[in-house]
Amino acid sequence: MEDIARVKRRVEELRASINYHNYRYYVLDSPEISDAEYDELMLELKRLEEAHPELITPDSPTQRVGAAPVEAFGIVQHPLPLLSLTNAFSGEELSAWHRRVTNLLGGGRGFDFVCELKIDGLAVALTYANGSLTTGATRGDGYQGENITQNLRTVRSIPLSVPKDAPPRFEVRGEVYLSKAGFKKLNDERAREGLPLFANPRNAAAGSVRQLDPRITAQRPLDIFIYGMGWAEGKALPSSHWETLEYLKSLGFKVNPNVALYHTISEVEKYHRNWVENRESLPYEADGVVVKVNSVAFQRELGNVGHEPRWAIAYKFPAIQATTRVLDIGINVGRTGSLNPYAILEPVKVGGVTIKHAALHNEEDIHRKDIRIGDVVTVQRAGEVIPEIVGPIISRRTGKEKVFAMPGHCPVCGAEVIKPEGEAMHRCTNAACPAQALERIKHFVSRGAMDIDGVGEKLCQALFSAGLIKDVADLYYLTREQLLSLERMAEKSISNVLSSVEKSKERPLARVAFALGILHVGEETAELLTEHFSSIDELARASREELSSIPSIGPKIADSILAFFGQGRNKRIIERLRKAGVKLAAEEAKARELPLAGLEFVITGRLEAFTRHEAEARIKVLGGRATSDVTRRTSYLVAGAAPGFKLDRARALDIKILGEAEFLELLNRAVVESE
Ligand code: NAD
Repeated sequence: MEDIARVKRRVEELRASINYHNYRYYVLDSPEISDAEYDELMLELKRLEEAHPELITPDSPTQRVGAAPVEAFGIVQHPLPLLSLTNAFSGEELSAWHRRVTNLLGGGRGFDFVCELKIDGLAVALTYANGSLTTGATRGDGYQGENITQNLRTVRSIPLSVPKDAPPRFEVRGEVYLSKAGFKKLNDERAREGLPLFANPRNAAAGSVRQLDPRITAQRPLDIFIYGMGWAEGKALPSSHWETLEYLKSLGFKVNPNVALYHTISEVEKYHRNWVENRESLPYEADGVVVKVNSVAFQRELGNVGHEPRWAIAYKFPAIQATTRVLDIGINVGRTGSLNPYAILEPVKVGGVTIKHAALHNEEDIHRKDIRIGDVVTVQRAGEVIPEIVGPIISRRTGKEKVFAMPGHCPVCGAEVIKPEGEAMHRCTNAACPAQALERIKHFVSRGAMDIDGVGEKLCQALFSAGLIKDVADLYYLTREQLLSLERMAEKSISNVLSSVEKSKERPLARVAFALGILHVGEETAELLTEHFSSIDELARASREELSSIPSIGPKIADSILAFFGQGRNKRIIERLRKAGVKLAAEEAKARELPLAGLEFVITGRLEAFTRHEAEARIKVLGGRATSDVTRRTSYLVAGAAPGFKLDRARALDIKILGEAEFLELLNRAVVESE
């Protein structure tokens, strides 16, 4: 008895909470919790209602779509309701849906699936009559939406008229969205104006399209993908969803190009996996894949259950956002003395990984986003990228939050901190700051630099703390006895360390130039420099004019190189590296004589034959350069599966594009040439 009372209380609690979050999300476009947290509340309520059907009420949020429309816009009745979608969060849930559909269709009747990206935006219905757009409406509660015709007219990819042979009256459905770049631009502007930030492109798009003043909507770079036909009068429509999409395209609607037609559920799984891996490369956000039964006759047969069609399912991607609290803001001192603030977070799971920290870049960025200590924030973790804070949830402020200020002195060595003119970073002024010295050593041994296998961050820390190394040159003078004096260093690992250190003496010049840790000289710049200077000594002797005459080397980099080689401490390090036998000059066989010399490659999308890193390594071995940005200097863009926006840029700049097969052929030819 008591149990039931407890369940009832929880059900009521969940309903109140979900209704509150629905209001914030659908009406205010300003959620306070992440979608994953919302989904959990909904799942808990659904489970309780399934176990206790007597508790289901018609006004439960499980029985409804979205939220009631806001009257100020004017109300539109949807002749055919706009439904939601059932979610699947795993392969098992997808298979269960597949089995259900197969059974409902009587088993044994094969059917195809159309897979589409689930665009994270706002659902709209567009009605056309006699060739013109007459009404644009939000989904609202599924039955009634908001009239946002004037706003939607400002979205350039929505056709205001359709060809003469279109049905006399029809409705199409689609998702209005904001690109990632458009979202960033909008949030940057809002931050500058001191306005609350949007948590994600979806809320920004919804907030933009649901404006009472269409002039505001017109300023936002909104776009649309049409994903289906609602209803049509006076004309027979295609008998499959796939053909419907083709038909919509022929009427001038923008349909997402990443659609696919499959016959088996394992192909659907593969499509989903591919997009889990490559969603980052999309210029807009997608939060899953929508799988739809292709045959319209089968769709009708399957029908709906509650507010969800049985013939479609949203197979979600792992979440990338969560909400948590900023407990404090810490500071790391980087190898160039930069003070790098980071947020210490209440641990939170995002897409299966617990995150405790998020990068905060610099003081300006913290103030621009108005992130305060104690704030509840939206955090985001995309792929392998370091977690970042999107922004604070202002409505959850208590008044006790503290505004962050950069310290005036280095938290490690106590030296004065300055903020150089025109730079975003604060810097510790003490070149001998132990934090900087240690970070320089860690950088020197890292992959891409001298790549000293077996000497990781921990060993660097231990050697540094024990006073065995003070700078990078000391690494080459380490003795077996010194290493033995460290805790937990066995004979075998000592031999490994010593032989890795020895091997690193032969690294190519570009690696050495990068490993030295000159401010603003990254991997690409280091390569560029060694194409013009054949030794560290030549580079050290170069004048400001000589350096600045190299394309891509601006005055900032030139000054930083001059400053580096002007310091006595660095000169001494280079002399000691030379004495230890570290090669400080280019190989005899110059890069210029290799088959890919002078060619610059950019890779986008996924390659089948090797990872991007491996492909880049091959290009380099053959004398070419691999860079990340498509510029006029780029010789080739290598486009793998699911290429990103770089492909568009390459096309715009008329740069030669190679498919994976062509790229392999080019590499093979180069290998033959070099032999
Ligand atoms: P949904 O957004 O999960 O799925 C249905 C919608 O998907 C459709 O209405 C359509 O707009 C969209 N869609 C995108 N691409 C599509 C395509 N190719 N084909 C068909 N439809 C496509 O369901 P919902 O009912 O709109 O919203 C529920 C979701 O909204 C929750 O799962 C949660 O993620 C989020 N939400 C979050 C909060 C919060 O506080 N964070 C509150 C309410 C809802």
